[in-house]
Order: sequence, then structure tokens, then C-alpha cells
Amino acid sequence: MIKIAIDGPSGSGKSTLARSLAKRYGYVYVDTGALYRTVGLYMLQCGVDIKSSVSVAENLKNISVELKYDENGMQHVLLNGADVGESIRTSEISAAASAVSAIPEVRAFLLDTQRKMAENNNVVMDGRDIGTVIFPDAQVKIFLTAGNLARAERRHKELTEKGENITLEKVLSDMESRDKSDRSRKEAPAIPAQDAVILDNSGFEPEDTLRAACDIINKKLGI
Ligand code: C5P
Repeated sequence: MIKIAIDGPSGSGKSTLARSLAKRYGYVYVDTGALYRTVGLYMLQCGVDIKSSVSVAENLKNISVELKYDENGMQHVLLNGADVGESIRTSEISAAASAVSAIPEVRAFLLDTQRKMAENNNVVMDGRDIGTVIFPDAQVKIFLTAGNLARAERRHKELTEKGENITLEKVLSDMESRDKSDRSRKEAPAIPAQDAVILDNSGFEPEDTLRAACDIINKKLGI
């Protein structure tokens, strides 16, 4: 099976790119951030202290997290059987996802769900550790990045379009602290795999990023 890993910090355009690539190559798109967001959502909903790794790990036994795809190829995450929908896309849940993602038990809990996706499908998977931990053998690894302000502006646009009332400054500072903790955590830090191609898309339109990524992929896959 073919595995294309798209890693990188928040707001780098990973999901836009990965979704477009999946469509172009006819592969399944897997958004792994949604899994961590869903764990974060559950812990917040249940009033679990997300700073306590012991409490979070203990509560994992109460949840099942599954991926489902509809007829349009859209990914849905089911938390104890119910679709979480867009409820995981707030800035509060971003912070919770980042906090729980540093806990080794949470990463172990979500490992099989991610690996299983590539057992019978060619996949384009986006996340932070796809090329380093989930699929060290991925045929293509792209680490997508962009300047902090460019990334914060994209994220701010996304959140305000969804109706969240948040300033650009707050998005930038939240993003910087989330990136810092994602990069510096002990377990699966969000850093490029040694064999990843680094693609900086500051100032790119989504179609420029797509073109650059397709060049990398076609060369790697020899197509
Ligand atoms: O990609 P997204 O912004 O949805 O991810 C939310 C959070 O989940 C990230 O800040 C990161 O802490 C965590 N994450 C991770 N590993 C992944 C995907 C996401 O640790 N593969």
C-alpha cells in the first residue's frame, strides 16, 4: 500500500493539501489531528484535568474512537459511537488536543486506528509524527511549514469564518505555545523525519502547494 505522510505545524495547510492530494491520486485522506482533538473533547466534556496524565490515561478506558468515511470520502470521527462533527474545531479543543497528545498512553491508544487505515488502502495521512512514528516506511514524507504570521493568519481566517470571536494576536500566541509544546514533547515530537522533504509554503496559494507536493510525490513514486 502507498503511504504519503504530511507532517508539519498548525496552520501550515496540511489538511488542505492532504485532502487535495487524496482526491488527485484516489487515496484515502486521514486527518489524525481529529483523533487527538476527539480525545481532548471527551476529557473536557467529562471535566477531566487534562494536565494530569494519570487522570487522562485512566479515562481512556471509557472511550472508543473510530474513523468512518461517508459516500463522499469525508472522514467522520465517532466518539463512543456518536459523530463529533465540527465540535472539535474550536481553539479550546486545539489546546486540549495538544495537551493530551503529549501523554504517551494517548498516543499508544490511537496508534492502531491510524496504522489500520493503511492495511487495505493507499493513504494520505496528515499529522505531526506520521513520517517518524506511525509510518517510518512511508514512500513519501513531506514536512509542510510556513512562517508563524502566515500560519496564524490562515488559522484566524478559518476560526472567524466559523464564527469564533478571536483576535489574530491571540491565535498567534496560542499557536506558538502549541507548536512549542508539540515540538519539545518527549513522545513523538513534531519534528521532520530525517528523510522528509521540507516544503515551506509561505506566500503560496493552495494550488502552488499542491503543485509543489505533486512534483515531490511523482518523483518519489516514479510516476
Ligand atoms: O492537526 P491538528 O491541529 O488538528 O492537531 C491538533 C493537535 O493534535 C496538535 O497540536 C498536536 O498536539 C496533536 N497531534 C499530534 N499528532 C498527530 C496529529 C495531531 O500530536 N499526528
